[in-house]
Amino acid sequence: MGVCWGLSALLLNMGWIEAGCYSRRVVIRIGLVMLQGARHVHMAALNAAADSLGINIEIHELRKAVDLSQSKPDALVFPGGESTTMRLTGNDTASGLLPEIFDWIRSDPSRPVLGTCAGAILLCNPQDGGQPLIDAKIDRNAFGRQADSFQSTLDSSLLDRDFPGVFIRAPRFTNVGEASEVVAMLGEEVVGVRCGNKLALTFHPELSDDHGFHQWLIATAKEVAA
Ligand code: GLN
Repeated sequence: MGVCWGLSALLLNMGWIEAGCYSRRVVIRIGLVMLQGARHVHMAALNAAADSLGINIEIHELRKAVDLSQSKPDALVFPGGESTTMRLTGNDTASGLLPEIFDWIRSDPSRPVLGTCAGAILLCNPQDGGQPLIDAKIDRNAFGRQADSFQSTLDSSLLDRDFPGVFIRAPRFTNVGEASEVVAMLGEEVVGVRCGNKLALTFHPELSDDHGFHQWLIATAKEVAA
């Protein structure tokens, strides 16, 4: 028994959790929507964020509805890219991922989700006949075309610091609903909205060296899973 508890304490120190005499490694499962767009940079950002937090994660690539049911993620990342293409590929019968994801998010409001740029558009405007997944209105390409893409320092109340914002054919929030809270501003412009454990950002946090928003997702997922 003594040996067992000693071992448990050691494993607990190493990031394992003691469960009676058995030990179970805590792994937070992150589903990454792979329909199109900036996916692999999110993987790198998630891994860096997990390392800095000392939390073990598994990244599950989601392409089809079955990927979601099999991987049972604790949190989701909805990357940027082209929302029209994502709607087409994700609603196609070969994939069917988008309706499953929307169901998954709606069926438990505590589920943590990070939607960036096109991902934010889909969360605010799912166009599936149901309620928005994030209570905010958003306009596509509202900052102009590709040539109008830019980088600028923004201010995030969620992270309590400045953040290097990368805006690529970015959408614009035109209204923030009562269920949501503004968590990032670029001057007078709202660029980040939180609705419970769901975050919609009009910029690309995965393209900066600051992994604060990915850390927030992982830490929130760990809290919810506990
Ligand atoms: N303009 C794109 C759209 O409408 C979003 C751009 C992005 O994700 N960087 O989907």
